Amino acid sequence: MLIQKVCVIGAGISGLAAAKTFIEEGYEVQVYEKQGAIGGVWEKSRRYPGVTTQTPGRIYTYPDYPLPASYPEWPTGEQVNAYLESYANHFGVVQQIQFNTEVIALNAIDDGHKGWMVTLRTSEGNTITNNFDFVVICNGVNHIPYIPQVPGINSFKESGCSVLHSTQVNSIAQLEDKRVVVVGFGKSACDIAMLAAEHGSKCHIIFHQGNWKIPRFFFRLINFKFLIFTRFAEAMTPKYKPNSVEKWLHSGGKRLVNIFWRLNETILRYSFKLDALGLVPEKPLIEAIVASINMAPTDFYKYIRSQKIQTHKTSIARLVKNGVELASGKKLNADVVVFGTGFRQALPFLEEKYRHQCLDKEGYFHLYRNLINPNVPNLAFVGYNTGFSANLSSDIGARWLVELVKGHISLPAKEKLIAEMEADLEWRKSHGYAGYGGTCFFSSTFHYLDTLLHDMGLPARQTGSFVAVMQPLNSQAYSNVRAQLQDLHRATKKDVFPKNLKL
Ligand SMILES: Cc1cc2nc3c(=O)[nH]c(=O)nc-3n(C[C@H](O)[C@H](O)[C@H](O)COP(=O)(O)OP(=O)(O)OC[C@H]3O[C@@H](n4cnc5c(N)ncnc54)[C@H](O)[C@@H]3O)c2cc1C
Repeated sequence: MLIQKVCVIGAGISGLAAAKTFIEEGYEVQVYEKQGAIGGVWEKSRRYPGVTTQTPGRIYTYPDYPLPASYPEWPTGEQVNAYLESYANHFGVVQQIQFNTEVIALNAIDDGHKGWMVTLRTSEGNTITNNFDFVVICNGVNHIPYIPQVPGINSFKESGCSVLHSTQVNSIAQLEDKRVVVVGFGKSACDIAMLAAEHGSKCHIIFHQGNWKIPRFFFRLINFKFLIFTRFAEAMTPKYKPNSVEKWLHSGGKRLVNIFWRLNETILRYSFKLDALGLVPEKPLIEAIVASINMAPTDFYKYIRSQKIQTHKTSIARLVKNGVELASGKKLNADVVVFGTGFRQALPFLEEKYRHQCLDKEGYFHLYRNLINPNVPNLAFVGYNTGFSANLSSDIGARWLVELVKGHISLPAKEKLIAEMEADLEWRKSHGYAGYGGTCFFSSTFHYLDTLLHDMGLPARQTGSFVAVMQPLNSQAYSNVRAQLQDLHRATKKDVFPKNLKL
């Protein structure tokens, strides 16, 4: 089957990267986005006031379209969104997006061998179907808000109070002069606690497990990207397929690795005065780094020390009229409860038979290279490689897909692919990389990108010298991937566009 018509679901960072990559290789691309605008998590209706990236902007950028030089080190949500709009305009993606259109069903045609039937619900409430040769799912792993089931939500709301997920905090007015209880200890929860401390009349933060947080600058001097986002730092965490140095570090050199992480823990304990606050996390730092990078908002611990933010290391027993009852028995008065409890991952629209192939009952995705499931033809995923540089990993992931579709990547036999996919997932589950449905790459972004480049026949970036391994990830180092591939295919005369994906 000739692949020509490609459907992309979602117009966040990943959907834009996927659409742009297929468009520039000559495919007929249609993007469906259920919201009214570009941006996904950065879109206006979903971002809270004052949100910035955690990753420094020079890393959180597409390789072939740098962020404007005028942007600060940590761009605001508004700036990221403007940048994404500019990217979509520049690469002719925006014309291919149908907004306010939700994909509600994805059904295989001839088991996917003849593509997919996509059922859509438009803003007018009409249901229409379109057939495509190939579908790329880019609906995001941070897309469906998760609020734990807590008893009493209704009686809390009936007393005139409000319950919000962090994505629903869109204006300061929602917190102004209110008694706010924030649930969670991740980025959104802590950012919103800061807003509540500044604008509300009272702010409590409830969490049952503390976590390590990283300052933007160590000793107010060293940008954390030099300590966390380098190949050197990555080598300090275990890898599924380590190189020889990493293998040694996590066996004979284990003491060095332990010292490295202990040293960092000590710096964090000292900088944030965690011991005095009773907020030293139980888990070692290395486990937090592997699972996700969590940056401390500026002055977060200062606000805790001054009681502007009151911490409660417990869980909520129930919501009651005008308040929250904690598992410890204590009651907190509240007007607003904000759940900064993250997201759940799901593929509600995908035909059940194939959904079960891609996403198991425990919530783990089964994807080879985090991009395809070998049992499901002509379907792919971009954005299911959660790291600290979504733009770059989605861009290189999309490039890998196009190369695969064009027949430039020769994969092993299907049985081998499946065995490799399962072994990789099992390893992640047992080494702390299982967050976000097993799509977590926080401390192995370089490794992941190396693997995709290697599959495409290209060399790894930022390697080979001491200086290179100590440099933070540089998205621009990947800007010539397409040109290199073109040279490679010219040299080997392998360009057979467009060719069927055979799994
Ligand atoms: C507050 C916050 C801060 C973050 N900061 C960073 C950071 O600093 N660095 C980093 O690397 N990552 C960060 N992330 C993670 C972030 O999720 C990724 O960086 C990236 O934005 C994900 O893009 P995406 O396109 O994969 O998903 P999303 O941005 O979630 O986009 C998915 C899109 O798909 C659409 N969609 C979903 N279902 C359907 C459907 N059925 N039909 C049609 N459209 C659909 C959605 O409306 C959405 O527009 C942050 C996340 C949050 C929430």
